[in-house]
Amino acid sequence: MTRSITGDRPVLIVGAGIGGLTTALALHQAGVPVRVFEAVRAIRPLGVGINLLPHSVRILTDLGVGPALAATAIETSALAYFNKHGQPIWSEPRGLAAGYPVPQFSIHRGELQWILYQAVEARLGSGSVLTGHELVRWEDTGAEVRAVFVDRETGRESNPIRGAALVGADGIHSVVRRTFHPDEGPARFSGRMLWRAVTDAEPYLDGRTMIMAGHQRQKFVAYPISRVRADRGRSLVNWIAELEVGGGTPPRQDWSREVAKEVFAPAFASWRFDWLDVPGLIAGAETVFEYPMVDRDPLPRWTHGRVTLLGDAAHAMYPIGSNGASQAILDAAALTRRLVDSADVERALEEYQDDRLGPTAEVVLANRRNGPEQVMQIAEERAPAGFGHIHDVIPRAELEDIAARYKRTAGFAPDQVRREAAR
Ligand SMILES: Cc1cc2nc3c(=O)[nH]c(=O)nc-3n(C[C@H](O)[C@H](O)[C@H](O)COP(=O)(O)OP(=O)(O)OC[C@H]3O[C@@H](n4cnc5c(N)ncnc54)[C@H](O)[C@@H]3O)c2cc1C
Repeated sequence: MTRSITGDRPVLIVGAGIGGLTTALALHQAGVPVRVFEAVRAIRPLGVGINLLPHSVRILTDLGVGPALAATAIETSALAYFNKHGQPIWSEPRGLAAGYPVPQFSIHRGELQWILYQAVEARLGSGSVLTGHELVRWEDTGAEVRAVFVDRETGRESNPIRGAALVGADGIHSVVRRTFHPDEGPARFSGRMLWRAVTDAEPYLDGRTMIMAGHQRQKFVAYPISRVRADRGRSLVNWIAELEVGGGTPPRQDWSREVAKEVFAPAFASWRFDWLDVPGLIAGAETVFEYPMVDRDPLPRWTHGRVTLLGDAAHAMYPIGSNGASQAILDAAALTRRLVDSADVERALEEYQDDRLGPTAEVVLANRRNGPEQVMQIAEERAPAGFGHIHDVIPRAELEDIAARYKRTAGFAPDQVRREAAR
């Protein structure tokens, strides 16, 4: 058996979110020892819906969690854009229907995290994810990393925990990133606010379509996320209402901050389309969470010696084009490949950075230009009162080009995914 370049020393993964847990599964499968540290005391199913694009589903399938995902998630059949009057702008098949070797999944983030967490616990051993461990500092000696964690509740610090490398998968407020970039300041606010919730509803369209309606200043996104609910003839619809609220310092970024619907619902009161009742969906939600649309500027580097960044810590991006979780999963696969193929750890982390920093920076920047959703903004600018047929205002070739270009930038054009699958 080939020995891992880390020897017996584990890779220390900071953060048991989507990126950290996937990295743990991938490294373990490749024979690299890992330990995972999570700040919160208990993993709870937080968040609402999230999308997994085929390039990330392929990786998760190779990691053996495909069946668990399929039992829980909705296989997204199509993505469709509409204007604020509910008129169709663009629709494209997704997942298997689009010729990918694997589906696109829409899933509850908490369920996705739970599936990954259960797989890590089952394969690496119970307790392999150390909760109540918030990274506070570390030392890179050149030969190893020594990391110190604190229990938020007791304030007690751990003894230094030694590893061959440290991966900061600690999300948008990453302490690892802040240590390298202490002057970066808060996340960059788009001036747009998101209100997110789920509603138990009658299925709309085919029950598996992701829709977006509106334009850059006012948008509504919906997609069903529960296979169990669909099997019962219902639909658990994840939705996001979005409004431009002006720039300045972003409000606190807390995925669990609840707000009253009155804050935003009146703006959508007239959005009753014959294929979707937006006010009805909003009214049917029990709890609504507010989250500002923020990202961070691309960094010049992620890797410093034996320490690197992954997922949102490395490249927090606007939730446009459904790439946040998927790009974190792609990072996990790239890092694993390099740690298996390279001659030494520091080189592996540099190579991983070279593989992933450029492509993810492009996605961050493409999302600032509204990514594939720019078709909605173009339609609004050219025909604010609506149109007879979309091709009267946006030619088909222009629509096709925007959709295809974004897929290529984010790495999920069908031929790219098929090529990766054949590697
Ligand atoms: C509670 C929560 C709810 C979310 N809900 C949604 C959602 O509904 N829809 C959506 O699109 N995206 C959501 N996200 C973001 C989404 O998960 C990420 O954008 C994407 O999946 C990339 O994942 P990540 O692993 O890089 O970061 P995250 O999934 O954010 O995971 C980071 C993890 O690191 C832990 N952590 C942070 N600091 C430390 C530290 N110092 N030491 C140890 N651990 C630390 C955090 O507790 C967290 O578990 C949510 C994130 C969180 C944390």
